[in-house]
Amino acid sequence: MKIACVGGGPASLYFSILMKRVDPSHDITIYERNPAGSTYGWGVTYWDELFDNLYAADPESAQTIKANSVRWNTWDARIHDRASVLIEPGDEGFGIGRRALLGILDERARSLGVRVEYEREITGQEEVADADLIVAGDGVNSALREPHAAHFGTEVRTGRNVYMWLGTTKIFTSFTFSFVETEHGWIWCYGYGFGKDHSTCVIECAPETWRGLGLHETNEADSLSLLEKLFAEVLDGHRLIGRAQPEGTAHWLTFRTVTNRRWFKDKLVLVGDAAHTTHYSIGAGTALALGDAVFLTEALHETDDLSQALASYQKERQAAIKMTRRAASNSAHFYENLTRYIDLPPMQMFALLGQRHSSWLRRLPPRVYYGAGWLGTRMARLIPARLIPARAPE
Ligand SMILES: Cc1cc2nc3c(=O)[nH]c(=O)nc-3n(C[C@H](O)[C@H](O)[C@H](O)COP(=O)(O)OP(=O)(O)OC[C@H]3O[C@@H](n4cnc5c(N)ncnc54)[C@H](O)[C@@H]3O)c2cc1C
Repeated sequence: MKIACVGGGPASLYFSILMKRVDPSHDITIYERNPAGSTYGWGVTYWDELFDNLYAADPESAQTIKANSVRWNTWDARIHDRASVLIEPGDEGFGIGRRALLGILDERARSLGVRVEYEREITGQEEVADADLIVAGDGVNSALREPHAAHFGTEVRTGRNVYMWLGTTKIFTSFTFSFVETEHGWIWCYGYGFGKDHSTCVIECAPETWRGLGLHETNEADSLSLLEKLFAEVLDGHRLIGRAQPEGTAHWLTFRTVTNRRWFKDKLVLVGDAAHTTHYSIGAGTALALGDAVFLTEALHETDDLSQALASYQKERQAAIKMTRRAASNSAHFYENLTRYIDLPPMQMFALLGQRHSSWLRRLPPRVYYGAGWLGTRMARLIPARLIPARAPE
């Protein structure tokens, strides 16, 4: 089969690896608009279940990914000036730099005979029309999806809060949440390690806080300097870094949740963020992109009928990620409605933070939810028993 993958992100690269493993005669080319070794963002998180799935699909790349990841099993949550807790031992989590992950997948794909063409932007399907299968792994703003938005049933919901995906030289050894109150409202960060020199620090706030702090009109350097002051305690005097590459720039963004009713049209199929995005606060988008690759590969090798294979991929994969998508939407809702929770007694707030994936949390008054012991999810079951005050709540 002649396959063109547009976009050299985790979804396309992993799909090409799995296809080559199943049948080395596949002729696969990946087209990536950016130069090799350059990417957006910093580190991404993943969980043990993902590693098990990766290991089953391709042990070689799974082992290299794990060897290049950092791990943590404690969670550090702080409400500035009020309380902080260390939750241990929590679920084991992993972090890996996006650049390292893409480098590993690129090398593995090439070793199996995949051609990866960097600095090659594909602006329309006609440029790769001679392929038997065209994989749109071109991310959230997919150029291949766009002209067929009506067919795919594309819907985009823009989140209310603004965020910036930053790096820092502070090495977080726990997954860290820090909520800071300003005169214009709350601002918070999620920090996690991904390598020996850097950690990720995603900073988020409501638009009113963002404007109130003047972050809508300051340049990058001034924004970072203000954020370093606000998060000085958690950053321990370390700097925030806007750009992973010298030519890049950090931007304030609003998260776009993309959904598509259909995931294929004739020989064009959507994978990863082109098909669906999940709010970053549950750290699952990369894992889902890799999982799409697994499902698509399996579907394509179950039958010789392309449209039957793509229909099966769409049906099975949409069902498999439904719960994760709902969890992501609930988590985004928690942060967009932080004022519902932030003034609760800190231990309750921290417990509910661990419950943010739950649909019931957004429907019930927080105190009722907490009091009724609606602690259904795995993480939430762990939290109440393991909250260890690092500083006594006031
Ligand atoms: C702030 C933030 C934090 C996140 N944290 C996590 C996390 O902790 N864990 C996690 O699992 N996920 C996380 N994610 C989500 C994750 O980054 C994405 O879900 C994942 O990268 C999707 O992979 P992909 O291959 O579908 O798309 P992408 O990684 O976006 O790759 C798409 C590629 O296509 C290329 N491209 C686009 N258009 C074209 C074109 N026309 N021609 C050629 N190339 C093109 C792009 O340059 C890009 O390299 C986070 C996202 C954000 C925004």
